[in-house]
Amino acid sequence: MDEKPLDKLSRVTGLSPKTMHDIFQKVKANQALLKSCVLHEFTIEERKIGNLVRDWKCAKCGGVVESSHKRWYELGLIHAKYENKNNSAAHKG
Ligand SMILES: [Zn+2]
Repeated sequence: MDEKPLDKLSRVTGLSPKTMHDIFQKVKANQALLKSCVLHEFTIEERKIGNLVRDWKCAKCGGVVESSHKRWYELGLIHAKYENKNNSAAHKG
């Protein structure tokens, strides 16, 4: 009824409340690293499990993301460059 979210997750996953708390703290710390960085460089392979799971670490901030997030981030950088190039050309008139 008045169960806290982490306690609920603990019950559902079978992991201890302490483990759930530790995971939550790691996630929060990782988010803080990622938010503090102005331009990520996901060049360090942090974790690889078979061909499905692959995590990458930013060489600058140490934040870790899964490979699909890395791909979208890098695609966003390419699109931003394209957008900047076109805007510059338009302003030169
Ligand atoms: Zn970074």
